[in-house]
Amino acid sequence: MIKQAVIVAGGLGSRFGNRTKLMPKGFIEIDGVAMVERSVQKLIAAGIEEIIIGTGHCSEYYDELAEKYHVIKTVRNDNYMNTSSMGTLAVCVPYIKGDFILLESDLIYDAVGLKVLQNEERDNVILASGKSNSHDEVYLAADENFILTNVSKDKSIIPDPAGELVGITKISKNCLDKMMAYYNSDPALIKLDYEHALKQVSLDGEPVYVHKVEYYAWTEIDDESMLDRALTQIWPRIKENEELQSIRREVLLNPGPSTTTDSVKYAQVVADICPRELEFGNLMEEVATGLTEVCADPKDYISVMFGCSGTGADEAMVSSCVPPDGKLLVVDNGSYGARLAKIASVYNIDMDVFKSSTYEPIDIKALEEQMKSKKYTTFAIVYHETTTGLMNDLATICPMAKKYDMTTICDIVSAYGGMPIDLGKLGIDFATSTSNKHIGGMAGVGFVVCKRDELLKQKDWPMRNYYLNLYDQYKYFLETKQTRFTPPVQTFYALRQAIIETKVETVEKRYQRFTACWEILVKALDEIGLKMLVNRKYQSHFITAILIPETPKYSFNALHDYAKSFGFTIYPGKLGNIDTFRIANMGDIKPEEMTHFTCVLRDYMHSIGVC
Ligand SMILES: *Cc1c(COP(=O)(O)O)cnc(C)c1O
Repeated sequence: MIKQAVIVAGGLGSRFGNRTKLMPKGFIEIDGVAMVERSVQKLIAAGIEEIIIGTGHCSEYYDELAEKYHVIKTVRNDNYMNTSSMGTLAVCVPYIKGDFILLESDLIYDAVGLKVLQNEERDNVILASGKSNSHDEVYLAADENFILTNVSKDKSIIPDPAGELVGITKISKNCLDKMMAYYNSDPALIKLDYEHALKQVSLDGEPVYVHKVEYYAWTEIDDESMLDRALTQIWPRIKENEELQSIRREVLLNPGPSTTTDSVKYAQVVADICPRELEFGNLMEEVATGLTEVCADPKDYISVMFGCSGTGADEAMVSSCVPPDGKLLVVDNGSYGARLAKIASVYNIDMDVFKSSTYEPIDIKALEEQMKSKKYTTFAIVYHETTTGLMNDLATICPMAKKYDMTTICDIVSAYGGMPIDLGKLGIDFATSTSNKHIGGMAGVGFVVCKRDELLKQKDWPMRNYYLNLYDQYKYFLETKQTRFTPPVQTFYALRQAIIETKVETVEKRYQRFTACWEILVKALDEIGLKMLVNRKYQSHFITAILIPETPKYSFNALHDYAKSFGFTIYPGKLGNIDTFRIANMGDIKPEEMTHFTCVLRDYMHSIGVC
């Protein structure tokens, strides 16, 4: 897959007159969004991780856009007045690492064009369309093998074109080097446009293919009349196509799997591939690094991945990380802590359980007494108890475990990716999570983020497990770039996209979004008169356990079905004899959706006389 895109956006846009005197053309809005911003969104959705924008005229607009989208890097073509698109591409060259997609800045287009290029096997491919009747066509001539032979705006030179240039092209590094060599070969080429460099390179033996999509919906916008045509003829087609492709939205308010974006859903639709191919090995390696970066420094930590749910990752960690003669201390203050203890007992691991309230903070002093009482090798705890929404204070607890020389193994499943976490700072050696919670992927990949030094200690330990053996999985992948057993192939593609989208949003901003949703929920609960199980001081912003109202008219099923009819899925929660229902903030949820949900909740509670 191609990971980089370059947008050449140096131009003056002089054909627009006053409108683009103080603003680059790409910032002309279509349906309320600047052309170039919409292009950036489409590139991200198509799996592009880095967008280099070559700027010039009014470059500050692009610098501002780069602040909003962290994937953007701007490079200014200081000589934009005297050069053209090739001059702007030239300033971007030092940042181009491999194959990339080159785009013009003044385009509106159907995102399917990016998919066409992402699916291309051939190295250099120009996306072309049938007749656009735009009155500003760039015609492409090609031979019988669809290899580009000429480019011209003059129809008499290319009477029977192979297609029209769209302005979206897949280019290999090799081709780029040749384009640059040509551009630099003669000072008279200073005002060269990139398509002419492509033509030259193609004629010189580096084939550039023309891939025509006959009825492709796109247009370049160079002047007022083109803008008018774009708004009345092209944009409605693009919009309709996109609406046809959008998938019915269900907002999952259950504690995972979480709501995913359409781009994550579509990322699973890829060519079949044997997971033992190097290409897939590279993808898994990239995903592993991306997963590590979310919560730790990849210099010291490494992610080991399995095809399994989050509990599979917990089982891999617990059954792999306690030394053969070790002793484990587990904190149990909710179902997930209890699950860690259960796993240890199934593997006959020598263990003590420190029990604590499911809705009140851990008594730190008592825990320290317990740590001191025996020689434990390993300490296990859950960061965020998804049963109740209770956060455990790992910043205090984990360093304490270090003080008593324990290896710390943490289930951070429902905190990972939802809030800033630094395993190194917290002193956590192993941490588990899954592809389908805050990170926003599909269910199917469980992983353990491991401190490398600690993982290497397991090298000669007798295996207590097989499929889930952490060291074996790590070593095999290190040596072969393969997992020992069949991985969930398509889930990995979705996870790769989810990681990109996490980086684009940033974990800090994601936490702010969840916090905004949580505040909307808590305020509504106060107004309705519903009580929460955990004091808001100790609550995460990810899960809220709500005590059911004390009326016999309440029925979880009725509430569930009512919410479901509006596209919201909620989840029950029973803690001993305390009955709750739970609302999660996870994945691609938006504050306005939470507001809508609170209205639905209020309506239901009103109907049973609670408010
Ligand atoms: C979701 C979750 C898990 C894993 O659950 P699975 O259903 O196995 O994916 C583990 N621990 C915590 C704290 C969780 O929230």
